[in-house]
Amino acid sequence: MSEDRAYSAPDWADVRRVLVIMAHPDDPDFSCAGTAILMARQGIQVTYMILTNGDKGNHNPLITRNQLILMRKEEQRRAAELCGVKEVLFMGEEDGFLRPTPEIRKRVTREIRRIRPELIICSNPERYFGENYINHPDHRNAGLVALEAIFPAADNPMFYPDMADEGYRPHKIQQLYVSGHAQPTVEVDITEVFEQKLQAILCHESQFEEPERLAEWMRKRSGELQPDGSVRYFERFKGLRFDRR
Ligand SMILES: [Zn+2]
Repeated sequence: MSEDRAYSAPDWADVRRVLVIMAHPDDPDFSCAGTAILMARQGIQVTYMILTNGDKGNHNPLITRNQLILMRKEEQRRAAELCGVKEVLFMGEEDGFLRPTPEIRKRVTREIRRIRPELIICSNPERYFGENYINHPDHRNAGLVALEAIFPAADNPMFYPDMADEGYRPHKIQQLYVSGHAQPTVEVDITEVFEQKLQAILCHESQFEEPERLAEWMRKRSGELQPDGSVRYFERFKGLRFDRR
């Protein structure tokens, strides 16, 4: 229930481009597709970056690893299209073994300098949420990869001076949204696009045996009863805001 907590409303007045950095195909859809849909409707250009290839996300022995990688890319592309997200970047790290290596930090930094987003959405780098949930190591490491690229690398010209030759100048973001955080501060009301978000989640057919049951479960689990008796849906983030130079 949200009544006893005060959240900030999102401020996208100065936001033209957004980069969503997540570990797996389907992570953007569960964590922030409603927000992405609302942003895209306002003309904000949203890009998804998927760090791993998702090759552990199915138990069917008849599907080969390479088939699964292709399926999951295709599912994520369809989901993104449904949300108005025009670009999806697949970074191809191995599912289940994502680490914040210097190599992936450089590749992510290059994309941040190329896309130049005002706002980045990433996953939570912490090990636990609250007292009953261990964060998936890929989600935690995806959060670390994102944070370490954002700071100190992306806006510091001493990092990767060779990128200047490619035309990618340092870039400082203005806002960061961390999803899956135990103490969120920003609340996005996604009620009007919740069904569209569900459809995006259901694009990930390789992940669900009973999609209709999942949809029902999500409708029930995520709806929040309001004092006026209505049910509303939200995505919440820990929000950080950075000074401009
Ligand atoms: Zn995931």
